This record gives sequence, structure tokens and C-alpha cells, in this order.
Amino acid sequence: QELETLKEKGVLGDHGGGSGSRIQVFVRLRPMAKKEKEAGSRCCVRIVNRRDVYLTEFAAENDYLRLKRLKGRHFAFDSSFPDSTSQHDVYSTTTADLVEAVLQGRNGSVFCYGATGAGKTYTMLGTMDNPGVMVLAIKDLFSKIRQRSYDGNHVVQLSYLEVYNETVRDLLAPGRPLVLREDKQGITASGLTQYRAYSTDEVMSLLQQGNRNRTTEPTRANETSSRSHAILQVLVEYRVRDESNNIVSRVGKLSLIDLAGSERALATDLRTLRSLEGANINRSLLALSSCINALVEGKKHIPYRNSKLTQLLKDSLGGACNTVMIANISPSNLSFGETQNTLHWADRAKEIRTKACDANEELFQVPESETDQAKLLLELQKEN
Ligand code: ADP
Ligand code: MG
Repeated sequence: QELETLKEKGVLGDHGGGSGSRIQVFVRLRPMAKKEKEAGSRCCVRIVNRRDVYLTEFAAENDYLRLKRLKGRHFAFDSSFPDSTSQHDVYSTTTADLVEAVLQGRNGSVFCYGATGAGKTYTMLGTMDNPGVMVLAIKDLFSKIRQRSYDGNHVVQLSYLEVYNETVRDLLAPGRPLVLREDKQGITASGLTQYRAYSTDEVMSLLQQGNRNRTTEPTRANETSSRSHAILQVLVEYRVRDESNNIVSRVGKLSLIDLAGSERALATDLRTLRSLEGANINRSLLALSSCINALVEGKKHIPYRNSKLTQLLKDSLGGACNTVMIANISPSNLSFGETQNTLHWADRAKEIRTKACDANEELFQVPESETDQAKLLLELQKEN
């Protein structure tokens, strides 16, 4: 009945129901980076009314330093966050409802999607001073549990893992790759650390350490690979005695996912390796989109088995689950191609429900203008 009240209050909006839920899509613009400023970037994204996104294309005139304004494009999302938006604001608009629903035993998942450098990890993990969605969600979870501790017993368990090149690793206890097993509980990574969390204090450093365990590029040892997906799973179990003194247990799972960069693997020296990895990432992202489409269309068969990512997310996607996508973008015209792709994709993701009969199979695919992307990437890399 708590859930009903929330629905009445409109807290859960389109979420909260097993049927008729749709993917909520948000866009977050990050501030212009110093490097981008120094490279003479123009801002090509404008957000108005916390909803509308205007993307402007600039083209070089004869002299490449002078940019000519080409046509613009308009998009609208559930919410769009300008670069001044606080971490807390992003959390409360995108994820707070899901945390509430997880306490009701409903699964939820939040994905950050976008090109490398667009702000996915900042949004999900954040910094010590500005913690992101992962940390704020756990903080909120504990405060909500404290508020209702009189009526039962909650256990919160965290696991943090990585999918890289179709290999699953435990970020809390790095070591050999984990094997996925299917049992009554669903698909689990055997041997994965389940960290029993009692308070928020430990969580930020735990996750930061975990993030340092993410796979790095051989060529850029200090940077997390743009091909690595990180998944934080927060399992909340709630036990309470009913009138007949039976123990009732309710389990909700929140998955917070920092997806791999959505750009293609291009302009790298380790071409062969990268194209292999690139193929796998496409496979994971494509598999994710196929699963979401199949779920929304009410298909009987959901192709979870197509990738490690979707196997791991099976119970976060199926059943009574709320799904949120946050598309991260840079304001710089140097990233125009990537931003356009990300917005294009996000725009389609929000249409899923109304186009339920259409096949949306290329949902996550990075579209068309590969050459444009390659050019931009090369430019950016030169400047770095
Ligand atoms: P990604 O994970 O998508 O590759 P990051 O989250 O690492 O990108 O962001 C790239 C850089 O931009 C980082 O230095 C990060 O701190 C900074 N950044 C990203 N988003 C924001 C933001 N909203 N506010 C301030 N800095 C940001
Ligand atoms: Mg990142």
C-alpha cells in the first residue's frame, strides 16, 4: 500500500508498475573542459527549460579557425541537465524513485551512456567532494532504512564488477575472471564479493578503490579503459514477521551501470586488438538494446544470453523493473559527432514504448558517420 500512496502522490510517475513502465531518458551536459577551451572549442549544446536540448553544428570555413553555423537540431527528454546541475540534483531526479522502489522489492537499473570523456564515471561515481549517483543512492538507501527500521530488518549487500572484452571481474577483489552460473536466484558470478554494508562512510572509498581496479589501456596505464563496463549491484533484503509470525522476505536489486564508451574503436595503434574489443563492446551494447526492446514489446524470449552484460543484468531488466538511462554529452563542437550520436540514440530510447511494434534493433548502435567520428577523434587526440 506504500507503493500505492507513492503512485497517488505521483512520486513514481511512469515507474513503479510492473506493466506499462517505460524507460526514462535523461541527458546531462558536462562543463567545457580546459583542454577543449584551449583547443578553441565552441559550445554546440544549449539546454533550455530543463528539458529541451538544442544542438548546433558548426562547419569550418576556408580558414579552419572560423566556424560557420550550420543547421540546429532540437530534442526533448524527461529531463535535461545543464552543466551547472549538481550531483544531488541529478541523483534526485533520476534515481531517488528507484531507490524507494527497491525498498519495496522492485528491481531497478540506471545506465550511463555516452562517449568516452562525456561524464559517465563522474555521474555514476563522482569524486570525494562531489559523490555521484552510486554513492548518493546508497546514502539515501541507508537514511530511508533508518527511517523505517522499526518495522523490520534490512540487509544491504554491494557487489561491484566489470565486464571487459566479455570477461567478468570482481572489482572489490581483483583476480581471476569470474564464471557466470545460473541457479534459482538467477544468473550470478560465482565467487563474487558480496560486501555487507552497514553505513555510507565506507562506501565511497570502497567504490573508488574498485574503480582503480578497472581495466586500463596498455598504452595509457592510468586511465580506465573506455571499453570497460562497470556494474554496481545493491541488493536490499527486507525481513519482517507477518501476523502469523512467518518471516516475509522481500528482495530488491538496484543496478548502477557505467557503460563503456559508445564511440567506435578508431584511430588507435593497436588496431587488431581494439577492433576485437570494439566488436565485443558493440555486442554487449547491442545485446542490451535487444533485451530492452524485447521486454518492452512483451516478447516471450528475451535474448539475455547474447552477452555477459545482459546475463548479469537479467533480473535488473526483467520482471518488475524500473529503467533509467542517462546520456552524457560534452558541450564542445569538437565532440559534435559523438554528441549527435548520443542524442540521436537517447531520442529513440525514449520512444520505445510508443513504437513497441517496430524493431528497434540498432538502438545502441553507433550510427553512420564513422569518418566524421574518426576525424574528430584524431583531432581530439592531437590536442591531448
Ligand atoms: P567518462 O566516464 O564518460 O569517460 P568522465 O566521467 O571520466 O567521462 O569525465 C571526463 C572528465 O570530465 C573528468 O575529468 C570529469 O571529472 C569531468 N567531468 C565530467 N562531468 C562533469 C561535471 N558534470 N562537472 C564537472 N566535471 C565533470
Ligand atoms: Mg569513465
